[in-house]
Amino acid sequence: MSQLVRKRYFCRICQKSHTIKFPRHFAENQKRYPFVFFSIHKYSGDSDEFIEKNGADIITTFYVDKNLTIRDVDVAWEDSSSNIMSENDTENLVMFLTETINEMQEQYDSLLEKYTKLLESSDKKDKNYEEKL
Ligand SMILES: [Zn+2]
Repeated sequence: MSQLVRKRYFCRICQKSHTIKFPRHFAENQKRYPFVFFSIHKYSGDSDEFIEKNGADIITTFYVDKNLTIRDVDVAWEDSSSNIMSENDTENLVMFLTETINEMQEQYDSLLEKYTKLLESSDKKDKNYEEKL
């Protein structure tokens, strides 16, 4: 089975449907739903209004739910002064950060557990000590 899921969405700037590929397990372990995903695509519309924008970058914001369904899409022309990354870089970074955050969460949980045990055992020691006094 492919690791990527193809999704179609309508782009209000190009006035047409585009396809985007999501990793199959993309929607798992998100903090809240719908979660936000950014991407960039090139203008590919036919409107005379944007004729000079041919090939210009469009920032695309996706609101994706648990079932990888695209709930909403925002599109905006890229402001060339901003440092926006390519779709591929963004995808890789988001996946890397998601994994890192999950790992940190696990480490935090494990440390918290150890810390709690340590506190409990030091409480007991204190009580034993006080009883002897
Ligand atoms: Zn478009």
